[in-house]
Formats: sequence, structure tokens, C-alpha cells
Amino acid sequence: MLLFFKLYRDKKVKKVSDEKKILYNYEALLERLYKKVPPKSGTADYTLPTPQIIRLGNQTIVRNFREISMKLKRDPTLVARYLQKELAAAGSYDPNSGQLILNVKVSRKVIAKFLDLFLKNYVRCPTCGSIDTRLEKRGKAWILVCEACGAEQPVKSF
Ligand SMILES: [Zn+2]
Repeated sequence: MLLFFKLYRDKKVKKVSDEKKILYNYEALLERLYKKVPPKSGTADYTLPTPQIIRLGNQTIVRNFREISMKLKRDPTLVARYLQKELAAAGSYDPNSGQLILNVKVSRKVIAKFLDLFLKNYVRCPTCGSIDTRLEKRGKAWILVCEACGAEQPVKSF
């Protein structure tokens, strides 16, 4: 009985000292602080909707193109122009249905890859990682302007 009590007491003491250690551990405090801060919109885990693809002969239709463009915070006609240039294909965006029709046979995987590249190069701020950005055209130059941190990054026009 005495032994049991001793074990119990030792366990209790150990627990308290552990808690104390955590309380005064600077790194643990920092970690706790960061966990309370909500993630910014546009952290690295920001993901785009999977492109819904229909292939008809030599055409590829991206059914949810408007939805994807909204997630990219860019005008669908701009995103369409980018895809057409990268795929070296003609195409047309239909504002009524929100679909993009491309005159080329292309897989969902390839479209998703270029949309991810667009997100990386024309949406995400290279300085802070935020996607709260806008594209400004100054003469011939295109500048990615971050609303979150104010950074300005020249980007390749297309
Ligand atoms: Zn930024």
C-alpha cells in the first residue's frame, strides 16, 4: 500500500515538473503562440479545384474554368490566354457557361500543371506567399503587386 502511494506520488510529481518545464520552455511557448494565429489566405497549401475535362475529338473542354479562375483571383479571359499560349492552341472562353474550349487534345494532368504554374508565377507573392495579389500592367511591364506585404515583382507578360 505504501509502495503504491509512493509510485502514485512520484508520478504526480513528475507530471507537475513536466508541465513546469513546458511552461518555461521558450520554444514551446512560441509554438503555442503560432498555433493560435490563423493561417493567412494563400499559404503553400492553397489548392485549386481539379479541372473537369471533357474531350471531344480534337477539342478539350474545361467545364469548371470560371470556378478555377475565381480561385486564382484572375479574369478567366486572362487565364484562358495563358493556357492557349502555353499549349500553343486556339481556344475560347464562354462567359455564359463558364467553360473554356481549347482546340487541342490535352490531358487533365497537363492542364492542372499549367494552372499550378500560373498560380505560382502570376498569383502567389514570392515574398510572403500570400495570394492576395493583383496584376498591374504598367506600359509593357507586368507587375505582381501583393496586397498583404506590398512587395512588387515584375513578371513575364504573355
Ligand atoms: Zn506578399
